[in-house]
Amino acid sequence: MTALPVTPPCDALIGGEWVPTQAWIEAESPSRGEAIARIARCQAEEVMVAVDAARRAFAGSVGDWARWTARRRGDWLLEFAATIEADHANLAALECADTGKPMRQAEADIRACARYFRFYGGGADKLHGETIPFDEGFAVMTLREPYGVCAQIIPWNYPAQIFGRCVAAALATGNTVVLKPAEDACLSVLRLAQLAQENGLPPGVLNVVPGLGREAGAALAAHPGIDHLSFTGSPETGTHVAQAAAVHHVPVTLELGGKSPQLVFADADLDAALEGVVRGIVQNAGQTCSAGSRLLLEASCAEAVLGELAERFAALRCAAGEADADCGPLINARQKARLEARLEAALADGVRVLACGRLAEGAPAGGHFVVPQLLGDVPSGHAVLREELFGPVLAVQVFRDEAEALRLANATPFGLCAGVWTRDGGRQLRLAKGIRSGQVFINNYGAGGGIELPFGGVGRSGHGREKGFEGLRSYTRLKTVAIRHG
Ligand code: NAD
Repeated sequence: MTALPVTPPCDALIGGEWVPTQAWIEAESPSRGEAIARIARCQAEEVMVAVDAARRAFAGSVGDWARWTARRRGDWLLEFAATIEADHANLAALECADTGKPMRQAEADIRACARYFRFYGGGADKLHGETIPFDEGFAVMTLREPYGVCAQIIPWNYPAQIFGRCVAAALATGNTVVLKPAEDACLSVLRLAQLAQENGLPPGVLNVVPGLGREAGAALAAHPGIDHLSFTGSPETGTHVAQAAAVHHVPVTLELGGKSPQLVFADADLDAALEGVVRGIVQNAGQTCSAGSRLLLEASCAEAVLGELAERFAALRCAAGEADADCGPLINARQKARLEARLEAALADGVRVLACGRLAEGAPAGGHFVVPQLLGDVPSGHAVLREELFGPVLAVQVFRDEAEALRLANATPFGLCAGVWTRDGGRQLRLAKGIRSGQVFINNYGAGGGIELPFGGVGRSGHGREKGFEGLRSYTRLKTVAIRHG
């Protein structure tokens, strides 16, 4: 087994206790293909007990969480942010080992996780209802109340960041949580849960039920005792969980996939654009919901840009996360085989690899590496332009004018992000309005992941918003109170 910097408890966290399960899941290092830990494999029974524990903690009989003032909850979140920062090196090393992502990215993810607790800790006592002017003799107000027990099902690509995004917002607003992390990577989540307990979080306020999607995940989504469900993952699973939650009329936030375009016009700062385009697809080996996986290039600059881009792709190196190269491995052998099969099919359809990166010397033989690839000559409407590949693969298309660029940008069922690179102010605004997606970035891509910025999708990319103050509001429900005082 590859040694870990610290070993978090790998059981389920239920009602403040670490509870062992009957069965286990072998956690593997994507960089080496070796086992690194054995984590709990919860079943419906454990999920049931966890939901009960969260209910008791919310109702006040165990942890008094519902009776904590907003200020006290905020203070706890701020203290916890400092704890995460103090444990930064351990958490980053765990995230790097468990997901295979380059160390720099793992470090950035842990900083982002702490920042979520800081941002929402500060926001806890600043979220409030409103008064509404109404008829003579009435006083009308709205109250923002927590839902109660929030179920959160999260993926493996950014475990610590998504833990921060979901858990911090839910706790700040007075909810309790049952979280199902992904079977492929959850060690940082378990360490964070351990630190939260050590930091004095009342028992049952945060429960973690590791396990398989079809077991623990399905049981959680279908549980009649949850009051809210936040799901981050694939569109297919999103459909299943939304259907399961609908049976009990549970509100759902879905953060799903993407096939996001980067539009580069000839008048752009091309150096900055190329930097943003490469980073937008190589980050996390392309396993990012918001990856910029389609490049739309204005014809008049296409040849020059493609030449430069090919050089940049050829210079990219893949290595184990700890080696901190441009690109790490894919998460597991299944994802690698799936991506390779899709690439093979694309080549058979006439798609051409214009350039590709290489494995770095010494990259472990057992790692699930797929080198970054730039694809050209893609037939219009081809699967690589419509389907999420979830790997470091960028497909190029050329457009003649702004209208065609907009048509191509909107030609997928997804709508998560778009990057637009142009100096023309009018065009910036026209495209910001015309592109069908939750986020449009002009002359940047991703705005550094800004925690303050609401984030979410359109169409197959999901619905609801997390991050920013909008994310905080999404963990509350509004109650209207009308007082007739005469
Ligand atoms: P996935 O849907 O397979 O798994 C996500 C989570 O759902 C995991 O915890 C998994 O165990 C659980 N799950 C699987 N089947 C389930 C079921 N039947 N019932 C309940 N839970 C179940 O997705 P993935 O492959 O782990 O993650 C990749 C996907 O996530 C990509 O499509 C990516 O774009 C998306 N993603 C979206 C965002 C966002 O914020 N929009 C962020 C990260 C990832």
